[in-house]
Amino acid sequence: MMHETSKTIALRPHHGLCLHFFIGLGYSERFVQRMTWLQKELERNPLIELVSGTDVLCDACPNTQGESCSDEKRFSAYDAALLKMTALQTGRVICWQQFKERMQERVFDEGRFHEICPDCQWHEFCHK
Ligand code: SF4
Repeated sequence: MMHETSKTIALRPHHGLCLHFFIGLGYSERFVQRMTWLQKELERNPLIELVSGTDVLCDACPNTQGESCSDEKRFSAYDAALLKMTALQTGRVICWQQFKERMQERVFDEGRFHEICPDCQWHEFCHK
């Protein structure tokens, strides 16, 4: 499925990390296709809006029920941890490159990635 490209891409904050580590694995074929599509879109450095709740990726995730995630509490905690670490807020519009640099400086360079999502099922693939 092709996803409509809007000017600003809605992204829940912790998905910035997932995209950083993405190697073609995911919850379903449709989800992997969406991740692949989004990775490509982000190469042109669009504006992203940091959102709470579901985003452009969740729309293709089998864990999404209607408008919400079946494990919202856990993923909201990941979002909150990343926002705190990067000193960003929900609703902030920022270009992808800037967001990536902020994650690099304040999360990866500081060795703090493991604090954000240690109980995620994909952690062993991302925590390298
Ligand atoms: S461990 Fe899970 S939440 Fe964390 S970056 Fe990897 S896929 Fe995303």
